[in-house]
Amino acid sequence: MYKQRGVLVVFSGPSGCGKGTVLKRVMEKNENIFLSVSATTRAPRNEDTDGVTYHFITQEQFQKLIAEDGMLEYAEYCGNYYGTPRKAVLDRLEAGYDVVLEIEVQGALQVKKKFPEAVMIFLLPPSIEELARRLTDRRTEDDGTIRKRMKTAISEMQQAPQYDYMLINDSIEETAQRFAAIISAERSKASRMKERIGEVLYDA
Ligand code: 5GP
Repeated sequence: MYKQRGVLVVFSGPSGCGKGTVLKRVMEKNENIFLSVSATTRAPRNEDTDGVTYHFITQEQFQKLIAEDGMLEYAEYCGNYYGTPRKAVLDRLEAGYDVVLEIEVQGALQVKKKFPEAVMIFLLPPSIEELARRLTDRRTEDDGTIRKRMKTAISEMQQAPQYDYMLINDSIEETAQRFAAIISAERSKASRMKERIGEVLYDA
């Protein structure tokens, strides 16, 4: 049976625009997706679980991982470091899983440089007002942090045209469907089907 290598998906969007909720919905309907667990130096929030939402590590551990070339990409964001552990991602892709990296823009552009076949999806909030409301309603950060995240959000959204796809998160259900449709279409790309056509033609 032909086993296709998985699709590497980079998923970005400003803090509070609903990336996590959309992904949860996509993954409920698709068992072939693996969500990469990042490492970070930021402090855990209430909803976080170590090893599930993030690997929470110290600055020293983070620097050690970089030195060992253990990070596929990494970036500093609002005063903390975030990075994607390399091995888990490459192993899952090899095993045929579609791997999603939920990461910010600087890291996303590093991935695209290293893996030009990566699919870049940017999630936009329906409006700036809605984004501010969601960040404030979440009540997980103080006012200073929220202001900093709003400023970062605006400069991130200006980079959205560098992505392959943009989704506007006005309905979680529809956004999740469009996300899944992108992966499905990518899997059928001729450039990803070269080995398959070789197998089909083998007996011709
Ligand atoms: P938060 O602190 O809200 O969990 O995440 C802040 C930002 O860091 C989000 O935009 C999130 O997508 C991004 N992020 C999470 N993990 C990584 C990572 O491994 N690498 C990079 N570059 N960004 C990440």
